Amino acid sequence: MQRLRDYSIQYLKGIGPRKAEVLKKHLGIESAYDLLRHFPTHYLDRSKIRPIASLRAEESSYIMLKGRFITFTEAGEGARRRLTALFTDGTGAIEVVWFRGIKNIRSKLSLNKEYCLFGKPSRWQTTWQLSHPEIDTPEEVEKSSAIRGVYPLADAVRNAGISSRSLSEWICSLLASKPHISETLPPSVLTSRKLMPLREALIEVHSPSGNPDRLANARFRLKFEEVFHIQVTMLQRGLYHKSVTPGQRFTRVGEAFNDFYHNHLPFALTNAQKRVVKEIHADVNTGRQMNRLVQGDVGSGKTAVALLSMLLAVDNGCQACMMAPTEILAGQHFEGLSALLKGMNVTIGLLTGSTTPKKRESIHQALRDGSLDILVGTHALIEENVMFRNLGLAVIDEQHRFGVAQRAALWHKNQIPPHVLVMTATPIPRTLAMTVYGDLDVSVIDELPPGRKPIETLLRYDSQRLNVWKALYAQLRKGAQAYIVYPLIDENEKLDLKSLKEGYEQVRETFRDFNVAFVHGRMKQAEKDFQMEQFVSGKAQILVATTVIEVGVNVPAASVMVIENAERFGLSQLHQLRGRVGRGMEQSYCILMSKPQISKDTRKRLELMTETTDGFVIAEADMQMRGPGDIEGTLQSGVAFDLKIANLATDGSIIQLARNAAEQLLADDPNLLKPENIPYAKYLRLINPHSADWSKIS
Ligand code: ADP
Ligand code: MG
Repeated sequence: MQRLRDYSIQYLKGIGPRKAEVLKKHLGIESAYDLLRHFPTHYLDRSKIRPIASLRAEESSYIMLKGRFITFTEAGEGARRRLTALFTDGTGAIEVVWFRGIKNIRSKLSLNKEYCLFGKPSRWQTTWQLSHPEIDTPEEVEKSSAIRGVYPLADAVRNAGISSRSLSEWICSLLASKPHISETLPPSVLTSRKLMPLREALIEVHSPSGNPDRLANARFRLKFEEVFHIQVTMLQRGLYHKSVTPGQRFTRVGEAFNDFYHNHLPFALTNAQKRVVKEIHADVNTGRQMNRLVQGDVGSGKTAVALLSMLLAVDNGCQACMMAPTEILAGQHFEGLSALLKGMNVTIGLLTGSTTPKKRESIHQALRDGSLDILVGTHALIEENVMFRNLGLAVIDEQHRFGVAQRAALWHKNQIPPHVLVMTATPIPRTLAMTVYGDLDVSVIDELPPGRKPIETLLRYDSQRLNVWKALYAQLRKGAQAYIVYPLIDENEKLDLKSLKEGYEQVRETFRDFNVAFVHGRMKQAEKDFQMEQFVSGKAQILVATTVIEVGVNVPAASVMVIENAERFGLSQLHQLRGRVGRGMEQSYCILMSKPQISKDTRKRLELMTETTDGFVIAEADMQMRGPGDIEGTLQSGVAFDLKIANLATDGSIIQLARNAAEQLLADDPNLLKPENIPYAKYLRLINPHSADWSKIS
């Protein structure tokens, strides 16, 4: 056979061009290689028959039942049409339903004949249900191997008549044809970690021998391999920057930095802030480009660290820029930094999408002639016509809103690429950080400024609203300001907007003694600014808002946050929102309002919020609950998150092992030039076809 990657699956027995097209379109399977890397998510033990009577409410695994159909009923019209059958094994009955391919199924099955059904039963009120099970005759079950993989499918794939069993059969027959499978890990890694060879592992995961340890070893090997490739890629990319990309040398700590530090900084830095500033300072003085991530929980004081770093650039004859994800945030940074820099000989400007053409022109001019030291802005500042005289440092705030492409665009703003400082307030679990930001050096601000009282978080249901309003009223009377946040998940959602506006009216009605400001993302910029200003200046005591206030907004006197429909928010988002309070000296409160009927998971999520304010704990839990794909930053990270078997949420220890192995390999052979590593280097190039452009895509 040719190389597996070049072998199109349409030539495999039983597939053909039509099914090949479906597999390509919906599962991304094109070649025999892809097919072998479409892994089962579960396994069915076909030697064990479960009596229906033994099913338990918490059942959530794939099982096999053996019995007979006693009735078939078709009901509904068009898309709602369905076929329902009653299936019994003598110990109990289960309802089997099909929504697709009804005619076909009905014609294949007979009443009162014995069948084995495979699937994941669910309980609907008092009855058990099984939808679209796989069905075999007992004879078929008898003659096939006891343990069979259950493969992930898409609806469209099922509709095309392809089942998990079809995939299993195709893969097993491909493996039986003894294709040439070459090893994809370097030999030293394979032996030192005692990993199962690739060929053996593939056979074991697709047609398990029945020995659970062997299967576990096979899966371990495949997961390890998958994350190992990412780790090597990221580490090489990092090494590449360090060894190849020159950076400006900030050798001097000069007037701007010192004057600010000693005469203008309104507080003493925390030890964590000091440490991170030192790390940055060391990093910008190596002659190599810095690519550093600063992780610090909301309120940990990243802005001061960013400003000190920018002043370092200014002291060394460079300009600096700071990019924020929204206009509000860019505006706030500009205001905040301008205030801090007052009385200093450092110039600062703001550039966003709504900067007037005239203003824009003068900023462009000042950037080119070097009279502007610091530019704050939104992504407007990476537009091509924005040119700096000598950009030395680019700070990107709240990284998760920016993609790799934007980082790359910044690189090209200067002949010598600017140092890049990425700041994120969304703590992400360590193992995920290693993967998503594996090419960046990481600094952590793991300490909050002194005097902060931990925010007290309460979970309340709609029925308790009266009490919540009373408590809020009392706080407002004491001079507190409050946010009331509505979920406007999709800013275009009419229903959400309606509930937001109604909420606003109600709040105004209820709190007539106070001024209420109101912002949402669909407002005109000027209106938004006006409303924000009302709240920031303290003229309004209440701000009714959507999640537009999620990032960065800083109003220290705001000490109460009420989050409406908190059940609709993800953990990380709640954490971000909550970070808007607890910034001043007063005890702060966050009240999560929820409807009373919520699922167990949702309750768990909300309760966790009441128990901890530690962003890392929350990030970890969020990843466990939602999976890494939904964690902000993952999707936009630019790492191809096309994991087939490893799971970033649950395979943390494997990621750590793979990271260590990757470090070891590259310490020994940084460019993978040793003869024994050449095949691996080739393989990496094959799976990372763009790696030649690393220098451009950090
Ligand atoms: P974030 O890390 O969320 O961006 P900010 O930089 O906005 O945090 O800082 C949050 C608040 O804490 C601001 O009001 C800032 O002035 C204040 N702050 C920052 N560092 C310190 C410090 N070392 N001591 C006291 N207050 C600080
Ligand atoms: Mg910030």
